[in-house]
Amino acid sequence: MILVIGGGITGLAAGRTLASRGAEFLILEREAEPGGWCRSIRSGDYLFDMSGHFLHLSDPVMRDWILRLGGVSWDTVSRDARVFLRGKVTPYPFQANLHGHSRRLVARCLSDFAAERIRDAVGGSPAPRNFREWLVRRFGMGMCREFFFPYNRKMWRTPLRDMGYEWTSWSVPVPAFQEILAGARGETRTGMGYNPSFLYPRSGGMGSLVRTLAAPLKDRLRLGTEIVRIDTKKKVAWSAGGERIRYDAVLSTAPLDRLVRACAPVPSAVRLAAGKLRWVKVLSVNLGVRNPAATLGHWVYVPERSYPFFRAGFLSNVSSSASPKGGASLFVEKSFPSGARVDVRGEIRAAVKHLERMGVLRRGQEPDAAVPVMLDPAYVVFDHAREGAVREVRERLARRGIFTAGRYGSWDYNGMEASMADGIRTAGAVLRSVKGDGA
Ligand SMILES: Cc1cc2nc3c(=O)[nH]c(=O)nc-3n(C[C@H](O)[C@H](O)[C@H](O)COP(=O)(O)OP(=O)(O)OC[C@H]3O[C@@H](n4cnc5c(N)ncnc54)[C@H](O)[C@@H]3O)c2cc1C
Repeated sequence: MILVIGGGITGLAAGRTLASRGAEFLILEREAEPGGWCRSIRSGDYLFDMSGHFLHLSDPVMRDWILRLGGVSWDTVSRDARVFLRGKVTPYPFQANLHGHSRRLVARCLSDFAAERIRDAVGGSPAPRNFREWLVRRFGMGMCREFFFPYNRKMWRTPLRDMGYEWTSWSVPVPAFQEILAGARGETRTGMGYNPSFLYPRSGGMGSLVRTLAAPLKDRLRLGTEIVRIDTKKKVAWSAGGERIRYDAVLSTAPLDRLVRACAPVPSAVRLAAGKLRWVKVLSVNLGVRNPAATLGHWVYVPERSYPFFRAGFLSNVSSSASPKGGASLFVEKSFPSGARVDVRGEIRAAVKHLERMGVLRRGQEPDAAVPVMLDPAYVVFDHAREGAVREVRERLARRGIFTAGRYGSWDYNGMEASMADGIRTAGAVLRSVKGDGA
């Protein structure tokens, strides 16, 4: 029997694969409904996702797999992402759309960018040693000071020198010099980056994907059941309610550090490695607002320190079913170090105040609905210890029949597509391990 821990989209995609191969398996989910961070929430007339969740597809095999699930009518949406800086709103990405900022800011960004290109051309620059150096080499100090440093510090809550950069090269677009000059002249460049368009369900929010994934797995999905202990020798797991479950292999999507805490016996090297894993949590404050003063595209990046959140998003500009006509379903995201105490009510008040300051809410406007969601973990931190620590934990657990998958099981930056692909792939690996299945 294969025990799948977690009924998020990774566990559900794994379950779909196990079912199609006729495997005996059970998915255990701690919460009262499946979907993890991809659930949607209704509050009065408003629909929210747990936080901004837009489906970016890059793998044709996964595109086909997702579209064949049926059950969801997908809209293809051309991304409208923006940057809010010094009271101005410009198109994303910042580096390719400098037009609209002060002449001084533009000149500084361009000359520092050019200086880095000259350094490249004459050679001799050693490879960057950390994320901070990588940013300076790619964009120059001007753009770093204005956008990349403050934005990334707000998001990662970690000194940028303590982070690696291998994870980021696919997600941060690096335009050519001519493109940056064109953007500074006002020729808008919006289609750059990994997600120029994305899919979103026509109705029901991202939770529609979850409902579709879960529908054929009802008999194999047990909700409200948290796994708290795993005896890796006897191959027995215990739920918080004291239920004892025998297994042949585990496919876990639970956060890696918490999984290790639940497992015994495990070598001390595994506990040591798990102790090195770092992450941030994100408070997403979802607000339902009647007749806002303005909305800013699908989402807007907010790098300045004087605003508490790093991004604000407008779900009702993606899906009209998310709010009543004339209203807006919006969210702001703020990161915190994993252990931080958070005054959620205070954060809601701050979100409203700063949305008013940005010109989104009218003066004194109170939202009709406020739904805060703490995503913990949200982003794993790519510090220098991460790669070795993750390898140590995952390889040693796999030798004991415990395979891990998904954003937090792989301890990676996986979006939804990559998480589901990982669930499918890992289900195949688990089957091969338990019965030499040729799949
Ligand atoms: C702020 C934010 C914004 C994002 N935006 C996007 C986006 O726009 N596009 C995109 O593609 N991706 C986005 N993502 C990534 C996306 O959320 C993940 O790829 C996806 O949710 C990963 O699914 P998962 O099943 O691996 O993990 P989760 O969603 O965390 O699901 C894991 C499940 O396991 C359950 N569980 C954990 N421990 C136990 C236990 N011991 N016993 C039983 N059950 C347990 C949890 O309750 C949960 O339901 C975003 C993530 C964050 C944090």
